[in-house]
Amino acid sequence: MKEKMIPVCRTLLSDLKSIGHHRSPGQVIVQITDRCNAMCPHCGMRISNPFRRSRLSNDQIKKIIDAAAANGVAALSFTGGEPLLCLDDLTELIQYAGHSGIRFIRTGTNGFFMRINGSNIDRFKSRVTETIEKLASTPLRNFWISMDSSVPEVHEAMRGLPGVIGGIEKAIPIFHAHGLYPSVNLGVNRNIGGRFTSELDPREFPCETDYLEAFYNRYREAMRQFYKRVINMGFTIANTCYPMSIDTSEKDTNAVYAATATDRIVRFTQAEKAVLFKVLMDSVTEFRSKIRIFSPLTSLFNLHRQYSSDHGNGHTPSRCLGGIDYFFIDANKGNAFPCGYRGNEDMGKYWDLNLKRIDLNTHCKRCDWECFRDPSEQIAPLLQLFSSPLHLIKQVITDRTYFRFWMNDLRYYRLCQFFDGRKKPNMSKLAFYTQK
Ligand code: SF4
Ligand code: SF4
Repeated sequence: MKEKMIPVCRTLLSDLKSIGHHRSPGQVIVQITDRCNAMCPHCGMRISNPFRRSRLSNDQIKKIIDAAAANGVAALSFTGGEPLLCLDDLTELIQYAGHSGIRFIRTGTNGFFMRINGSNIDRFKSRVTETIEKLASTPLRNFWISMDSSVPEVHEAMRGLPGVIGGIEKAIPIFHAHGLYPSVNLGVNRNIGGRFTSELDPREFPCETDYLEAFYNRYREAMRQFYKRVINMGFTIANTCYPMSIDTSEKDTNAVYAATATDRIVRFTQAEKAVLFKVLMDSVTEFRSKIRIFSPLTSLFNLHRQYSSDHGNGHTPSRCLGGIDYFFIDANKGNAFPCGYRGNEDMGKYWDLNLKRIDLNTHCKRCDWECFRDPSEQIAPLLQLFSSPLHLIKQVITDRTYFRFWMNDLRYYRLCQFFDGRKKPNMSKLAFYTQK
């Protein structure tokens, strides 16, 4: 017990030290490759999109990991493309990151290796078990599996991966038997509830309010069906990736991470976005006692306010830590960027970055990238406690709803064992979750 407590205390002390210096424990997202074998219409890396594909070498990535560990980075994600196209290298890198002391290591898949179409079930099981054994032998903390719709046929058609949903369902018990509890990653899009969930034409409604009310009801039901389906499939953790579109009115954005699109499937108007984030808030609240849902209410609430017509009555979202404490490394040049969106701001090699020279006061809200927006919201009050305690007290007094959500998220995260994907959920504790 004592041996276990010492590293935990060291970790807490190191996090507190960062926060005391007005910095969040860092996060780095490494795009190991931009190669992919799927057809997603909402992503520039789909197999049918012709461009010169790249892959970072293990040596490059190890150098990044060394620098990240030296910078006290807490979370490291390996993204793609499809990361599992490089499975053996990936497992080696996860081991390396774990030995370097990085605590929250994540990666994921589009599920291609779990397709079951016409497969002999024994061959399916041995293929899937082999991959899962490799992943489970590493210090990987969280493993995500993408899913775009509550309707299996729609998801499979979007991804170009027939048979993948049935395969995932059969693979989940194998993951669990190996001590890995994958999370389902929903990339929010217009097909959540079936093809073009909102084939609602605003012109057919007498006014915008009526249209938005119908939009709310349609997406609320779609989210309900989605959570029910993934719970039935055996998932115990869920996360939501907010629509990967960018504010095109911002001329200085040029996404370096091609998991973005201008396709209508992920484009929503400002008014639709305000409603969409309200849908997510209400759906998360409804299902939090049934499955561990990462998406924090604080973040959803602030995004809802950001897009509402009154812009949250002067309450601004918390500062996104992209380019401050969080960075994205692209597969092409292997360079650091403030995030996957700000591709015009090449910061050079990550290991050459001087974090002390970074301006801590930039306030960007150009996109809704959950990887950076969610943790930025969660850590914001703690950072303020040290940097401007008076401002924090004023905020607590004037923005009670936000702080009620913040406390609620914190309590909920404890019930969820902080989303440790190597731990079985404690469903009896989770059942006691209440909104208050
Ligand atoms: S979203 Fe993922 S699986 Fe789909 S094309 Fe893009 S990288 Fe591939
Ligand atoms: S809000 Fe954050 S993730 Fe989005 S463009 Fe700005 S820094 Fe990048």
